[in-house]
Amino acid sequence: MKTFTTVETLRKELEKLHNSEAKLAFVPTMGALHQGHISLIEAALGKTSHVTASIFVNPTQFNNQEDLAKYPRTLREDSEMLEKAGCQYLFAPSVEEIYPYGTNEKVNIDLKGMDLVMEGKFRPGHFEGMLQVVKRLLDIVRPDYLIMGQKDYQQFSLVNQMITQLNLPIELIVAPTMRENDGLALSSRNRRLTEDMRNNSNIIFRALQHAKTRVKIENIANLERSCKSMIEDQGLKPEYFEIVDAIELSQVRKYNEDRKIVACAAAWAGEVRLIDNLLLN
Ligand code: AMP
Repeated sequence: MKTFTTVETLRKELEKLHNSEAKLAFVPTMGALHQGHISLIEAALGKTSHVTASIFVNPTQFNNQEDLAKYPRTLREDSEMLEKAGCQYLFAPSVEEIYPYGTNEKVNIDLKGMDLVMEGKFRPGHFEGMLQVVKRLLDIVRPDYLIMGQKDYQQFSLVNQMITQLNLPIELIVAPTMRENDGLALSSRNRRLTEDMRNNSNIIFRALQHAKTRVKIENIANLERSCKSMIEDQGLKPEYFEIVDAIELSQVRKYNEDRKIVACAAAWAGEVRLIDNLLLN
């Protein structure tokens, strides 16, 4: 695996690929890698042998400075995992390299309110920063395939909107969420959980599963409330538990077999904020 820290050197390397018939896949990450990230590399390798991963803890998508400061940084271990997984290129730039002219320039598209619900409501500015860095990285890497995880449901939905609206020649591939044996979604933040919270935090997945088994027969607003209570009763602090349209992310109040819906949840497990989601039909 070749590692690059500057845009210029990465571009030079990828130029050879861009000038050939070869297809390039791209897996953006913030590092502190786990098997969930590696599953994205594997999905990328299912498409092409040319895979670039990036590790960049993007300051503009953190609305909480403490969260940014505490975000785990484990570049050496990450590199080893990527190399072992068969990743060909790693891009690990500095903040100055990604934002040489500052961070004011944003992606200007109409997100139809999809950025204001759920994560958008509780993390103001998060998606603006996320789209800003994804667009910047896509401009640098110019991949044919972009691989993202279903774990961050609203994130890939918004990236999908951006790709569609800006007509970017990129195929977005969504990979399923990797979980611990007890159902807890793998996350870089899990390593910060206390033992107690680690034991209790699979309640998020259990509440999502509960929603899946009950959604056809229960009033949806009541179901959201009872799922939130389940999480609360286990000692976590839920921020939201919402059942929404799987494409538009708008609230769903009545079950309809023909409409794809997804349950999305966020909760604090002590000092650690966890998110997860499950398609319900
Ligand atoms: P992050 O490093 O948290 O920004 O995540 C980088 C990519 O990995 C995103 O596309 C995430 O959706 C994806 N990802 C994170 N956790 C998981 C997981 N448990 N399973 C699958 N993909 C994941």
